[in-house]
Amino acid sequence: MLTEYSFQRRHSIPVRVGSVTIGGEAPIVVQSMTNTDTADVEATVSQIQQLAAAGSEIVRVTVNNEAAASQVGEIHLRLEDLGCRVPIVGDFHYNGHLLLTKYPDCARALAKYRINPGNVGFGRKKDKQFQTMIEQAIEYDKPVRIGVNWGSLDQELLTQMMDENAKSSDPRDADEVMREALIVSALSNAERAEEIGLPHDHIVLSCKVSGVQKLIAVYRDLARRCDYPLHLGLTEAGMGSKGIVASTAAMGILLQEGIGDTIRVSLTPEPGGDRSKEVIVAQEMLQTMGLRSFTPLVTACPGCGRTTSTVFQELANNIQAYIRSQMPIWRGKYAGVENMSLAVMGCVVNGPGESKHADIGISLPGTGEAPSAPVFIDGKKVMTLRGENIAEEFRAVVEDYVKKRYAEREST
Ligand code: SF4
Repeated sequence: MLTEYSFQRRHSIPVRVGSVTIGGEAPIVVQSMTNTDTADVEATVSQIQQLAAAGSEIVRVTVNNEAAASQVGEIHLRLEDLGCRVPIVGDFHYNGHLLLTKYPDCARALAKYRINPGNVGFGRKKDKQFQTMIEQAIEYDKPVRIGVNWGSLDQELLTQMMDENAKSSDPRDADEVMREALIVSALSNAERAEEIGLPHDHIVLSCKVSGVQKLIAVYRDLARRCDYPLHLGLTEAGMGSKGIVASTAAMGILLQEGIGDTIRVSLTPEPGGDRSKEVIVAQEMLQTMGLRSFTPLVTACPGCGRTTSTVFQELANNIQAYIRSQMPIWRGKYAGVENMSLAVMGCVVNGPGESKHADIGISLPGTGEAPSAPVFIDGKKVMTLRGENIAEEFRAVVEDYVKKRYAEREST
């Protein structure tokens, strides 16, 4: 991918998380997180399945109390029974040392532990509690993400670094000290984990902030200072288009610089909205950048005064939804189908040209044009669709193309 442009991935050591590898030569991994009560097995299993079906390659669940920890083993078993083998990561804050020791099924079932060094404990207890969690990771041979977040940054460390900065003859601004504290927190805790005995290739780092420029600055620095794989994410990105734009603006720049081995788009769902949206956005970010292919994407023009109808918008939506619905079947049957490109265009101005660039394209008639829609396959016009059933007929063309173009995988 990205062969026509210069792109070099930062070197990082590969870390195994269940059946998935983060870092090294592995593709950038898409992650998501449930928002169900983990103690509610039915709801959590159902949402993990939904996220995995949407393409999440790792799913994180909060393990916030005993009720949650006591159900993690059962969640894992149910998913296995359902044939869903997505690795589950446990998110621990404050009481992880107690939960991981009291609930061995939980410690065993999880594929990775996320430890927030700012929320491990206070004072003298902090080091001991951190050590206990790392010892559990060693005992069960699990990797750990040292996940620093500026909303819960280790206050003792920050205060100490602010004090030292204030006494310096050339003090830096507070923002810079805060950024450095995030990085020091991640790196020093990773070093401590290794001193306790966690292997170097069992550690992933993240330093999440909620500002685009800050995130870019922090990760550029962090990437230079270690070879641990990095988990990218803009924390509290927000709702709707704002969350998508902010995440894409920040992560797009870092990914283009080769920084980031796994990503999560932290979107706040609309009330009753689909949690899988964050997975689709993450996939589309990676795919539109040419870093990975997940599902065929439809190129559609924005429309303008040359087309007063919404036919092409409806067709573009219809086709994209159809492809997403077919992908769970196609993915297993047709090798490489995720690389297929489609174009649905509104009029003759850019329609034929854009359609020829796609594997399959259709150029719908604009206002005043003859009511016909030429279809292009592999750059050549092959037919013209007319009448009321263009959407159904175009779907049939796509289905036929998939069958002929992508070799059917041998059934096992
Ligand atoms: S292809 Fe036609 S309808 Fe679409 S934006 Fe261009 S000029 Fe407008």
